[in-house]
Amino acid sequence: MEIYLNRCLEKPAGRCNFAQNALAMTDDLEPFAFCICCGKPLSAAGRLDRKFCDERCKNRYHNRIRYPKRESRQQEILHILDRNRSILARLVTLGIHSLDRRALQHLGYDTDYITSYKKVGNKHLCSCFDYIYELTPTRIKRIGSVYSEVLTSE
Ligand SMILES: [Zn+2]
Repeated sequence: MEIYLNRCLEKPAGRCNFAQNALAMTDDLEPFAFCICCGKPLSAAGRLDRKFCDERCKNRYHNRIRYPKRESRQQEILHILDRNRSILARLVTLGIHSLDRRALQHLGYDTDYITSYKKVGNKHLCSCFDYIYELTPTRIKRIGSVYSEVLTSE
């Protein structure tokens, strides 16, 4: 234990979390530390002053510091897509396969958020996860599940 702490103290103050981690000692004096990203115990192998399980945790940790807003923006987009999908699913359940875009907007649908787009002839086909529809300037038409026959049965 003394060796480990000495190694740690040789480093500039505040740059090593080993002293802190060394406080978490087991009864048999086996030192163990935790990944500062995910909190999992670090294996005994490798450098004594390791801070992360692996490169993935290291990158994730630094990205969180560098781009604090990125994760929340992704969550925001996923939330909008999830809401869009729920609205489409509800419409299909109600047997509604065509709707005015203004009415759709009133339901909280945001046509700017889709998961894929395909132009077939002069038709604009948009999908939100497993739901698909044709987008026109005023309506969305032929709303259906990608697993159903709605779009192929015209
Ligand atoms: Zn980790």
